[in-house]
Amino acid sequence: MTGDGHGFFVFMVAIQDERRHRAFLAEAQLRHAWQFRQRGVAAASDPVEVNVPVGWHRVIKRLFTEVETLVPEAERGGFRWRRLVAAHGALEIRFDGVRDRIKPAVFRAREAAQVTCETCGRPGRLLLAAGSRCVSCDLHFLERLRDCDRAGEQAASNWWMSPHPGLGGRAPIVVLRTGAPPEILIDLALRRAMPDAPRINGAHRQRLQQTWPVLREAFGERLRSLRLAEFDPASQRGGTLLALLAGEADAAAQAGVATALARAGFSDLRLRLVGEGDLQAPATATDPWSAMLALEASISIPRYQPAAPF
Ligand SMILES: [Zn+2]
Repeated sequence: MTGDGHGFFVFMVAIQDERRHRAFLAEAQLRHAWQFRQRGVAAASDPVEVNVPVGWHRVIKRLFTEVETLVPEAERGGFRWRRLVAAHGALEIRFDGVRDRIKPAVFRAREAAQVTCETCGRPGRLLLAAGSRCVSCDLHFLERLRDCDRAGEQAASNWWMSPHPGLGGRAPIVVLRTGAPPEILIDLALRRAMPDAPRINGAHRQRLQQTWPVLREAFGERLRSLRLAEFDPASQRGGTLLALLAGEADAAAQAGVATALARAGFSDLRLRLVGEGDLQAPATATDPWSAMLALEASISIPRYQPAAPF
């Protein structure tokens, strides 16, 4: 397939998805009309915002059906969806009225979305790739990685079509057709998508070293090293701070430590925790993108040493 062919393919998929989305919406509004309008307000004047990927349609359909059974006729006048939107791999749901009755159904829908591929509806997980956060199955994660291949669209297409020694002489595309993508293929695609390792000057280094005490405070001896990736000061997009930890990365600790970092003046850095095991097998890590950044596309931030007094 040529680069242009790939572009056309993506375009066709986008059109098909758009059609499927319109059909999905039309059917839902027909079947559950009361969920989409507010008593006394013309539906067109303040339409419900529904923007969910095709892979999540089934999750949303189930939600509409559950709400149908949970809200009795007498209470339907005050209810209406306001917003059903996919944002950074999470399903955002807002509505007016009858909160307690439908809360469990809303909770279930959010939970289901967390493990459902946004593209195809098969089991998936929340996966980062080049700054975007989506729920993907392995196959569609690979597709996302192909789309951010550093060598460009044409080179990526060629690579996917060409025999590879790491895959027993088969082309990646052929391997994919045989079933679930093997770890090695995810590993190879991750490597191809990695950004350049950052370059920092003395001032950056001095500033970044101040992150050491913050993370040391949070993780103690478990903190093995700190690395910097996806850092491009000119772009104003900040950077990714990778904390390499002994043992498993503790996802529960992430939010608290990120807050501590922001308080210390580092709100421009996105913190990612990478465990020892993640480095051994990035493809199966909780966060494969960050694990590969740590291995392939980051630089070490030297340990902070307070200046010795004279
Ligand atoms: Zn998928």
